[in-house]
Amino acid sequence: MTTSTTFVIVGGGLAGAKAAEALRDNDFDGHVVLFAAEDHLPYERPPLSKEYLAGKKTLDDFTVDPSAWYRDHHVELQLGTEVSAIDPKAHTVSLPDDTTVAYDKLLLATGSDPRRLPVPGADAAGVHYLRTIDDAAALNSALTEGSSLAIVGAGWIGLEVAAGGRERGVNVTVVEMAEVPLMGALGREVGEVFAKLHRDHGVDLRLGASVQEITTANGWATGLRLGDGSTVDADAVLVAVGAAPNTALAERAGLAMGDGGVLVDPSLRTSDPDIFAVGDIAAAEHPLFGTRIRTEHWANALKQPAVAAATMLGKKAEYAELPYFFTDQYDLGMEYAGYAPKYSRVVFRGDVDGREFVTFWLDDDNRVLAGMNVNVWDVLDDVKAIIRSRTPVDPDRLADPQQALGELTPS
Ligand SMILES: Cc1cc2nc3c(=O)[nH]c(=O)nc-3n(C[C@H](O)[C@H](O)[C@H](O)COP(=O)(O)OP(=O)(O)OC[C@H]3O[C@@H](n4cnc5c(N)ncnc54)[C@H](O)[C@@H]3O)c2cc1C
Repeated sequence: MTTSTTFVIVGGGLAGAKAAEALRDNDFDGHVVLFAAEDHLPYERPPLSKEYLAGKKTLDDFTVDPSAWYRDHHVELQLGTEVSAIDPKAHTVSLPDDTTVAYDKLLLATGSDPRRLPVPGADAAGVHYLRTIDDAAALNSALTEGSSLAIVGAGWIGLEVAAGGRERGVNVTVVEMAEVPLMGALGREVGEVFAKLHRDHGVDLRLGASVQEITTANGWATGLRLGDGSTVDADAVLVAVGAAPNTALAERAGLAMGDGGVLVDPSLRTSDPDIFAVGDIAAAEHPLFGTRIRTEHWANALKQPAVAAATMLGKKAEYAELPYFFTDQYDLGMEYAGYAPKYSRVVFRGDVDGREFVTFWLDDDNRVLAGMNVNVWDVLDDVKAIIRSRTPVDPDRLADPQQALGELTPS
């Protein structure tokens, strides 16, 4: 690579910022341009529904790098600039003012946007979505003690905000279509643990319920009307029904798509040899599971960029990390590792009612696909080793806290 080489990064979230860092860490001395649609320096999103909501952190605490870092590392950061098109043949990206910027290699890290709720009232004032710091600031000011919040969707963000709201004395109702919270992510067995957690903390959890309308008065949300005709009164509404990856640019550029994202090989290269994708949009071939995996997880955004940057610089690299996720709700902290979209059985180890346990998701052959430690720490490495071993384990031994996890699989 020569100093006249230009690498362009599209997307100023965690993955985009980490990619810029990784290029410089790998001694790339060419031109790096990072386009970011938001006006803020790239920041991490998990605190938006946790410490920021609880008033324990401010934006500075979770900004990836201060502006001096971009200046000192000669990274041209273009905030408030949404790339509008890619021309893979010409090797250019287009900007809203119709100018183009040429690239030698291009990295896409465009992340996700919240899914909208297709019901009447969804655009009323007082209806919140949560993706950006601006969204979080608006939601924050709505969560005053004694007020009421209706949350549509019992996924991670809905539940974390429910917990944050309850801790601030807000009356919280959560409406969820599935029969348990987090059904898609964790399945019924563990979803029930989260249902009990929230009910124990005073959340009015309505399961198996659909939202027909966000009710309004004078253009402001006043609550929800559900499928059974019942209503929920609320001062504010949060719609938290999942995220949709921002793949439009990639699609229009003719890149191969699949699994809801941009297809990439284990080195994170797309179907175009000079274009790479990381973070929420990347559907990556996983060397261990032998399948494509796209996750909307902080850990991917943190770690995939180092692999993509190495590949962009012509080095051999592949992304083989296990998917990893964490959440904090009330006094429940947990980590989840692995990949279990389908499983045969769930094994609990420890005190489920006391919310101090480890859960495992097993396949037909008793191989552990995923594990989750709840208020039990220092076991993650053992859990990951069991998953990585891909060998059957005895479920009874797995369930028995007297059996050391580290001894359940051959080393
Ligand atoms: C409230 C909240 C809480 C979360 N909590 C957790 C958690 O506890 N654990 C966990 O594992 N994950 C969590 N996540 C998910 C995690 O934050 C995401 O997986 C991560 O942010 C993905 O990073 P990314 O860089 O791929 O995308 P993003 O963070 O979405 O960043 C993409 C950026 O690209 C910009 N962009 C998009 N298109 C363009 C364009 N054309 N031109 C220029 N810029 C563009 C966007 O504006 C955005 O700023 C949470 C997410 C949210 C919203």
